[in-house]
Amino acid sequence: MYKYKKIALKVQKRIKDLKHFSDARLKQQTKRLRDQLKNGAKLDSLIVEAYATVCEADRRVLGLSPYYTQILGAVVLNYGNIAEMKTGEGKTLTATMPMYLHGLVGKGAFLITANSYLAKRDAEDIGKVYRWLGLTIASGVPEDDGDDESRDLKKIYSSDIVYTTHSNLGFDYLFDNLATKPENQYIKHLNFALIDEIDSILLDQAQTPLIVSGAPNVQSNLYQLCENMIQQLDEKIDFKKSEDGKKVWFTETGINNLEEYSGVPDLLAPKAHELYQHLNLALKAKCLFVRNRSYVVENNEIVLLDKMNGRKLYGTKLQSGLHQALEAKEHVKISDDSRALASITYQNLFRLFTRLSGMTGTAKTDADEFRETYHLNTFVIPTNEKIIRKDHADQIYATNEDKIKASLQEVQRMRELHRPVLIETGSVSMSKLYSHILLSLGIPHNILNANSAPKESRIIAEAGKTNSITVATSMAGRGTDIKLSDQAIKNGGLFVVGTERMSSLRIDNQLRGRAGRQGEPGDTKFYVSLEDKIVTENAPKWVKRYREKLVKKHVTSALKKPRIKNIINQAQGIQKNSEISERQNILKFDEVVKAQRNCLYDTRNQVMRSDDLDHYVDTAIHSCIDNYLPKWKNYFDITNFIYNNIDYSFLPNQSTLKDRWRDRKYLRAQLLNMIETKKQRVYKQFENKDQLLEYKRLVLLKSIDTMWIDQVDALEQLKLAVSSRNWGQHNPIYEYQHEARRAFHNMREKIYLLILRNILLSEIVQKDDGTIDLIFV
Ligand code: ADP
Repeated sequence: MYKYKKIALKVQKRIKDLKHFSDARLKQQTKRLRDQLKNGAKLDSLIVEAYATVCEADRRVLGLSPYYTQILGAVVLNYGNIAEMKTGEGKTLTATMPMYLHGLVGKGAFLITANSYLAKRDAEDIGKVYRWLGLTIASGVPEDDGDDESRDLKKIYSSDIVYTTHSNLGFDYLFDNLATKPENQYIKHLNFALIDEIDSILLDQAQTPLIVSGAPNVQSNLYQLCENMIQQLDEKIDFKKSEDGKKVWFTETGINNLEEYSGVPDLLAPKAHELYQHLNLALKAKCLFVRNRSYVVENNEIVLLDKMNGRKLYGTKLQSGLHQALEAKEHVKISDDSRALASITYQNLFRLFTRLSGMTGTAKTDADEFRETYHLNTFVIPTNEKIIRKDHADQIYATNEDKIKASLQEVQRMRELHRPVLIETGSVSMSKLYSHILLSLGIPHNILNANSAPKESRIIAEAGKTNSITVATSMAGRGTDIKLSDQAIKNGGLFVVGTERMSSLRIDNQLRGRAGRQGEPGDTKFYVSLEDKIVTENAPKWVKRYREKLVKKHVTSALKKPRIKNIINQAQGIQKNSEISERQNILKFDEVVKAQRNCLYDTRNQVMRSDDLDHYVDTAIHSCIDNYLPKWKNYFDITNFIYNNIDYSFLPNQSTLKDRWRDRKYLRAQLLNMIETKKQRVYKQFENKDQLLEYKRLVLLKSIDTMWIDQVDALEQLKLAVSSRNWGQHNPIYEYQHEARRAFHNMREKIYLLILRNILLSEIVQKDDGTIDLIFV
């Protein structure tokens, strides 16, 4: 930290000089710095000059001069670290410094947020500074949500600076790797990324990988059938749930019963694989997904809810048939089960960057995980003004009801003081309940469920006024900061009521951080009960008995015993550990896919860019033949192979192979000969060399993609299969690695065969305008 402070002080000193520069001269700095880079200067050596330049530009263009703490944060960010800066410290302005410096390189510097509204807004507002300094900047998100056509990808990804969302970048990355021409690949470099709210993106959203889906799988009626069968089963007898409620599996009795219901004698046999898989999906849908907590049913459709903030995730679907199983459970129309074409986790997407950094209000509590998993160190940046907010001790009650009553009394007290109040709940249903009670008491309030971001920021703008009461789900409205009116500050500032402790201390801290920004007064207090989710899911069994005893004795006041107070912290610790290991698991799964994906994307890129593809074609042909040779048992197998893959006009009875096919050496030579002759005949149809090269390229890419897409889809299915089995002694990751490797090997063989077949048997249609159409077999 000492090193960084020294640099920050130098920047401050240098700003004083730049104040005397004319606008024109200050703008010249960009060219000067770029020239220095061109002449071999290291980027890090330009930090003082570049940072001072932006700071001065910030003042002239936006009317904001970065504070020392912001400059210090910005220095920390340059070196691939996480800067923890509290809410209201001005992270948006802080970002201008590292973004400008890395923008100078011209290889694209990315500012990533989770919220497309913020990406657009900041690209517009903050973008003025970069433009003023002569850099290009673009927003990577569509103008209107969902209207993807409005994006000019070429322009976006050739800009010096891009403000975008993690999902837009991720999908563009995956689509780039499905392109067949280099011109259709837009992201040139993954050089520098600064992730805003990095904890939200790398920790909270790590559970859902990005998946590009394509043409639907064949629709099956098994979903409804399996759903019906599952309804007849009993928990504990037919199936069991793990203690943390995250896994569920059939018992032996369950399997026997299902065999009886379905009339299938052996459900575990490979023949019944599909049925068994659907039964597992139906079981998961029944046990692991709770209506109105994990999803809602709206207009005859399932809409998933974000685990953290209760946002409705329109357009997001569970993968690998789980979504359809859920639809069957709710008796709504079963949608097409699409297949995965390409997938990547956010963790691995961001690990592709040469330098990665992040900022957030809350990272220190999870610093170990950031260091171990991402090699990112966390630095806590001091606040610009001293924090005077009071964080009160938790108020603990036996039951939910007592807790809610007590918290509402506090809200009433604050109302009498005319202070703004923010009630933070852990779920949509809880915030609805609070809203309902407030309404019945005649207390006006806003409810923030985060359905649309622009509306969200209007509610947030209201939330800092006197008498204003806002009910919000935990993470809604992150990234927009509650500003207090002068009167509200005089009355004591914002009062945050937490209605339950969240899944981690980090998220609790996020909620607390809403109050007391920039040295303002404020209070936070959590109301907790022994019936809260975090307690019932993670606390030891005696807690339940203890609670029942209290209820019997009609104890409704706050509980004071230290032993009880500890329960919440312990429960949170257990929850946190299980989330960490879940994230690590996901990473381990994706590690396997990553190796395969890298290998495949490398080959694809070589094929896309190479001028000589004969080597690829010949390797495929030879490997294919050598792979098949030992497998053929009789002449029929061989003729079948020739007929399907080499030559439709092959006449088995007139071939010399008929009598000599047992001689493998002879057979091999003859086949290669036959292939060569056919290949030359195909190649002759192309008039010019470029067309022929393009033909080979398309055949190779098409063959690779067809099989890789199958593989991606199969890996998704496999992941689901290994994690839904009750493994006992087995290690699911190990099984997955093993199976995935085998599948990859098979895929390679299949690609070789497809190349052979596509090269020799595609239909080539010459069109009048000189172009050609290809119809692959
Ligand atoms: P954070 O993301 O850290 O919570 P924001 O970037 O939303 O904070 O900034 C909070 C508010 O502080 C914004 O209204 C911003 O304009 C203001 N602000 C930031 N930096 C400064 C500064 N150096 N001087 C004055 N106001 C600032």
